Amino acid sequence: MADYHLLMRLYGDLSDLTEEKCAQCNPPYKCCSVQRCKDALKGMNRVVLEIVEENVDEDGSGVNGMKFLSPTGCVLRAIDRKACALWICPQHFEDVEFRDQYFDLVNQIMEAEKK
Ligand code: SF4
Ligand code: SF4
Repeated sequence: MADYHLLMRLYGDLSDLTEEKCAQCNPPYKCCSVQRCKDALKGMNRVVLEIVEENVDEDGSGVNGMKFLSPTGCVLRAIDRKACALWICPQHFEDVEFRDQYFDLVNQIMEAEKK
């Protein structure tokens, strides 16, 4: 069975790495969408869903109607929005240091997800 705490840390590290790029985008976080927020909701287990629903406005208080997008980024933990956390546009792979860190974390996540 996958190690939940390890995965939580790895997705968090990946999100921290990409956050810097996405925050500087124009507009910031432009790959976020209402549909992606809905997809994240669908993937949550009941316990997480209850916590999230208690802390996020029913009608979505986020930027441009996106339930989970605040002006400073996503309010969800990275492990609760895996597809979003894994995504970064390929243009940033020209930054070799970033690319190496990104794929190192993705490979660790893939290994941890298999267990
Ligand atoms: S993935 Fe790329 S295009 Fe999308 S918000 Fe992040 S930096 Fe911007
Ligand atoms: S990162 Fe967060 S705010 Fe952006 S689309 Fe995913 S769930 Fe929504």
